[in-house]
Amino acid sequence: MTKRFYIETVGCQMNMLDSELIASGLLRLGYEPAISASKADVVLFNTCSVRQHAEDKVYSALGRLKHAKQHNPLKIIGVLGCMAQKDGPLIFRRAPHVDLVVGPSQLGQLPRLIEEVAAGAGPTIAVSSDRKAESHREARESFAPFNPARRAEARPVAHQAMVRVAFGCDKFCSYCIVPSVRGPEQSRRPEDIEEEVQLLARQARQRDVALEVTLLGQTVNSYRYRDGGRTFRLADLLARLNDVEGLARLKFVTNHPRHMTEDLIKAVRDLSRVTPYFHVPAQSGSDRMLRRMRRGYSSSQYREMLGRIHETVPGAAVTSDFIVGFCGETEAEFQRSVDLVREARFKNSFIFKYSPRPGTHAAARFEDDVPDEEKRRRNNELLAVQNAISEEDNQPLVGRTVEILVEGPSKTSLKHEATERATQLVGRTTCDRIVVFEGAGELIGRLVSVEIEKAAAFTLFGRTVTSATN
Ligand code: SF4
Repeated sequence: MTKRFYIETVGCQMNMLDSELIASGLLRLGYEPAISASKADVVLFNTCSVRQHAEDKVYSALGRLKHAKQHNPLKIIGVLGCMAQKDGPLIFRRAPHVDLVVGPSQLGQLPRLIEEVAAGAGPTIAVSSDRKAESHREARESFAPFNPARRAEARPVAHQAMVRVAFGCDKFCSYCIVPSVRGPEQSRRPEDIEEEVQLLARQARQRDVALEVTLLGQTVNSYRYRDGGRTFRLADLLARLNDVEGLARLKFVTNHPRHMTEDLIKAVRDLSRVTPYFHVPAQSGSDRMLRRMRRGYSSSQYREMLGRIHETVPGAAVTSDFIVGFCGETEAEFQRSVDLVREARFKNSFIFKYSPRPGTHAAARFEDDVPDEEKRRRNNELLAVQNAISEEDNQPLVGRTVEILVEGPSKTSLKHEATERATQLVGRTTCDRIVVFEGAGELIGRLVSVEIEKAAAFTLFGRTVTSATN
């Protein structure tokens, strides 16, 4: 009988991509996707450790599966990804009905491990060694990149794809667990990346849709691959991918302000498929907080970088992340973040309340001394400032015609209609602005011109003005 798998994914785009690649591996083994955890023989949680809330969600979901496992002991339950690497055997203690704990670097072994558990191997753990206890070379070996072949059937849509260009991170920002759970930064060979993008573009052409590729790295702009005497950087990679036949748009996230070099900004200006969109997290506008966070730049260096982006790529959209209520953040220091948001006029900002992560420098050295109520207030204040700016800056787009890549049915449409009958669609401009408009399902995956009729902080509303092209 065909075995079925179900993957629940928490966290960032890296995890979304990992889940797609895990699904590829299981499809290759003959497994089929299940529509829910209750209908699956193998239930996998691909987890995130960046915030406590994300971990709590997984432990609650595991708790809910306890009875299902008692009812069907052959059901295999696995915890994968960052939380697996961080908590390791603790997961078996907190949820003894879990069969598998597999870190991000061991995901390539997952199909074999599932088969072994199914054959009666019992609880199984596969994680990397403790990065801090290893030499750099040992850590690189222990944190092997997970990079299997892509399969069209495992991809949620043919018109958008994420492609990892680098694994891990060496920055060790004081609040962040990523360098411990994802290991040292390792960039992929440009030839392999190009081959993968070529394959994705071929698959998109076969389905007659336009392709948008998002290059992923924890700090994507520190991409660096040495080959003999030559070093390839992100700008070189973008130039190499720009001419792939069938590729409509090329994006890259997430950037670190220190690596926002001239050549990269100019590549965005000069390469036709690269979208004028930069996600460059500032995290704080206070220099003392930035030092405590070990971000490696000051607020004036961040402002100077923004100036270079806007001077070189006029009209570019810049987005940011902020942490509010970081250890010891005073009201005056929080206001420096408000100042930066007002001055930078980001397209939008993702704002997070600080959540201490065990195993990080900040959790060990600083007191988490801003009360939660105060963190919430700062979060709301910063968000309100950002939202007012987003709404204001979207107004000049009213009356203009923009090109959007149609992503799928809008949320409202999804509630009421099947995808193919959807009448309200959603897409994005090259500057990553969300546009909602009326249109037929066959426009999904196509580039369409839309005239903007109304603008809110997060969404533009419009109507199509041309027939679809791709
Ligand atoms: S750059 Fe800093 S915040 Fe980003 S993944 Fe690396 S350590 Fe974490």
